[in-house]
Amino acid sequence: MSNENKKNVENMLERMKTVEKESKSESMCLAKWLQSTVYLMNGHTHSCHHPAVHKIPLEEIKDNPSALHNTQYKMQQREAMLKGQRPPECQYCWNIEDLGKQHISDRTYKSTDEAWAFPNLQKVLEMRDSNKIAPTYLEVAFENLCNMKCMYCTPDISSKWMEEISTHGPYMGTSRKVGDLAWLKKTGKYPMGRSEENPYIDAFWKWWPELYQNLKTFRITGGEPLLSKNTWRVLEEIKNNPRADFSLAINTNMQAPDELIERLIDYYNDIAPKIKNFDIYTSCEAHGKHAEYIRTGMNYDSFLENINKYLRMTGSHSRVHLMITFNILSLSTFDKFLEDVLKIRREFSPDIGYNRVPMMINYLMWPQFQNVRVAPVKVRKASIERIMNFVNANSQKNGNGLIYLEEVDQIERLSEYAMQELDPKDLKLQVNDFRGFFNEFDRRRKGSFLELFPELRSLYSFF
Ligand code: SF4
Repeated sequence: MSNENKKNVENMLERMKTVEKESKSESMCLAKWLQSTVYLMNGHTHSCHHPAVHKIPLEEIKDNPSALHNTQYKMQQREAMLKGQRPPECQYCWNIEDLGKQHISDRTYKSTDEAWAFPNLQKVLEMRDSNKIAPTYLEVAFENLCNMKCMYCTPDISSKWMEEISTHGPYMGTSRKVGDLAWLKKTGKYPMGRSEENPYIDAFWKWWPELYQNLKTFRITGGEPLLSKNTWRVLEEIKNNPRADFSLAINTNMQAPDELIERLIDYYNDIAPKIKNFDIYTSCEAHGKHAEYIRTGMNYDSFLENINKYLRMTGSHSRVHLMITFNILSLSTFDKFLEDVLKIRREFSPDIGYNRVPMMINYLMWPQFQNVRVAPVKVRKASIERIMNFVNANSQKNGNGLIYLEEVDQIERLSEYAMQELDPKDLKLQVNDFRGFFNEFDRRRKGSFLELFPELRSLYSFF
């Protein structure tokens, strides 16, 4: 680790000590107060994005639109944290923290973030019980309209998934019946229609003038946000009232029609010079046909071309962040995908310094049967070794490598996690779900799992 990076990590750990000392809690996480994702199409939220979502009761937002974030449920989780308890919904972080002190969990990365979290520590402690605390980092999904149906997505998030399930029904071969619309209705997750009145979207626009004053980062997700008129309304609002301390981010699959990508480029060129940051986030975790298998509706070449086009036409400070949700099907080609990322970096960020194509590497938790640990140990071992060889050969550690140290760290922690064994009973259940799901997936989507992933044959085939 370079001295500068060592210092950054030390500073981060110092700030985390302050968070824990001031709050008198070793499980304190500022993201529970300051970071929120709100799904307006069905009225759900979570803080942060790792725990499962929960319903926003309509009566709570009636007179207080900030209850889109400050639900009674979330306030109970905060209370538990302040008592030093570990809310079970944050298991993602406890898993990493239990690996040992050499690994840093998202609780630390997030709580110590200088842009939206750490400077608000005192404010959070003062307002600890308030149901009106304004998030400084808010992510919003307006609707589920989407042109893709990725394998780990769901009908409440993707209208393409909804179309498939409405035609073919849920995946009956899995223990939880993937895509079960009856379950979505029962849990209140069934998305509202686009023509229906939506009280959550109404509450959002009611909240917006106050919300915008406090926001440091606003991120729009979907569905595919470029297909939603609300996204363009937000862009217009910001264009008319830009703030120098405000950061905007949009999650897009970079597969919207050309005219929408071009419209995005125009808005970027208009707004970006007047606000702090304007960032694009996109997702991929495999290469070529393998990526297209994971993400039905994707054209891998046009995905790369759109990233190139966006970076080319938006000046030298624009960024496209790659969110990697490493899953069982990433094992085969993740290193080849990294090669493509490095090609883009060589063109647009040839020197370590300002990285225009940063990566954030997470592992997939849901659905569990797509988790990397379901793969046979031999396959995991060989793939992780190959991936780590590529990462080490291209790491910043080696002088001019273009994989940053924090990315190397994230891939190392992922590798360690991937090599942990599941409980045999759980593994059996996951393998059954894996078979039930992908056999049906291929039947419906005319896929060819075995051609693409022969090394996972033992999981796919029924004996
Ligand atoms: S503890 Fe981890 S999972 Fe929980 S809110 Fe914080 S960062 Fe998210």
